[in-house]
Amino acid sequence: MGREEEEDRYRVIIENQAMGISEVDQEENFLFANLAAHQIFGVPPGGLVGRNLRDFMDEGSFRQVREETEERKKGKSGTYDLAIIRADGERRIIRVTASPRFRADGSFLSALAIFSDVTELKKTEEDLRQRERYYRALLHNAADMVTILDENLRFRWGSRSTAAITGYSGAIYGKSVLDFIHPEDLEVSRADFEFILRNPGNPLHAIRRFRHSDGSYHYHEAIVNNLLDDTTVRGIIINSRDITERKLMEEQLVSRNRELDAFATTVSHDLRTPLSIISGYAQLLQSDDLTEEDRKAYVASIAKAAERLDEFTASLLTYAQAGKPEGNMVSIDPGTVIAEVLAERAVELQAAKVEVEVERGLPRIHADPLKLNQVIYNLVDNAIKYTAEAENPHIEIGAVQQGGVVTFYVRDNGRGIDHRFLDDIFLPFKRLEGGKPHGLGIGLATVKRAVEAWGGRVWVNSNPGEGSTFYFTAAASED
Ligand code: ADP
Repeated sequence: MGREEEEDRYRVIIENQAMGISEVDQEENFLFANLAAHQIFGVPPGGLVGRNLRDFMDEGSFRQVREETEERKKGKSGTYDLAIIRADGERRIIRVTASPRFRADGSFLSALAIFSDVTELKKTEEDLRQRERYYRALLHNAADMVTILDENLRFRWGSRSTAAITGYSGAIYGKSVLDFIHPEDLEVSRADFEFILRNPGNPLHAIRRFRHSDGSYHYHEAIVNNLLDDTTVRGIIINSRDITERKLMEEQLVSRNRELDAFATTVSHDLRTPLSIISGYAQLLQSDDLTEEDRKAYVASIAKAAERLDEFTASLLTYAQAGKPEGNMVSIDPGTVIAEVLAERAVELQAAKVEVEVERGLPRIHADPLKLNQVIYNLVDNAIKYTAEAENPHIEIGAVQQGGVVTFYVRDNGRGIDHRFLDDIFLPFKRLEGGKPHGLGIGLATVKRAVEAWGGRVWVNSNPGEGSTFYFTAAASED
């Protein structure tokens, strides 16, 4: 094949190349441009040679071209994106790969460039990037957790909310989800995942206890879906939320409802007993043949029943108020409150010959004075009531401080409590079999409510015939 034929072959190939091919001198004048180059610049065939690149771009882009030309002069090739303005005024982005040509004497001749219009490509890339940013932001900022497991149930990925809620960082990756499930939920969770693995694309809803990084178990409500076959996910995807608070509230609601039922039964019973006494004696009083003595006795019974009703409604109110979480939390000297209560009960204490011993210099605590008064009052009241049969009735009040917690005790040498009833005595309206129905059965429930309202705990130690010691805690006060 002759040289001319060979040149012709290259010319045909270059002319029909889909990529734009052009050559510019060191002043950026077009020396050559193929058909595709003309199309990209929006110029009719043959219209580029003799024109300058500057005609097809803004100043910024032209500066970029000049810098590139400097690189070519140094003998370097390069690839870069360049914004051009076509002859019809449309702005496009071209991706250029340029190489230098040198004369035999080594001086710079021209820059040869191969390029294509990448405007659409760039736009698609940018759209994709934006969409990804959007979904990422959605995932990471959602209150719900998103987690991906591999086919062996090992953590592969978790949204930022997952880390924030569970407290785990990347260290959890590679570990099996089953290692974090509560032992009691493990068996059913295994069955869940067996189902999931066997049924791709079939989501499963479950509530299971999951261990957080602080070691505590939280209820997670999850929707688990096997997308192992989905090429974009290739995992088991879990959408979940922490519903521990809701669960606790539900449980509380159930126990409150049970309490309320018991409450309604006892309250109506306790209200009706004195009422029927009152109405019974009132009827008897209507009879004509009554001795003065009978009349006095009936009226006294009515008055006593009315008094009990009054006492009952008053203690109901106290009980209701003791549960209110708000209160006047201040630093208190418990000794003062104890002295107040004892002064209030001085007459009864003297009458029953109860000896009271109060430890001196009790630590100050942080609590509501009114509630502390209720607590001491009820415990002392019970101690008086239930030591009535003791030989030398004795009550001892004191406290021990351990760190920031002060544990108080109110000890008596009364009849004590049967172990069977120890769990029940703090429930409202529980009066224990065997004992005389002295009270209303609401005193200790009020104590418990008041102590728990300031964040403390209350419990009892007792043996029948050996007396009882009631304990309650409160936060020590620094000031
Ligand atoms: P009550 O009004 O009947 O005293 P409480 O709620 O104060 O109701 O107490 C519940 C029950 O716990 C009492 O009925 C009694 O059987 C028992 N109890 C309370 N305090 C003492 C105590 N110091 N010694 C013995 N038993 C007690």
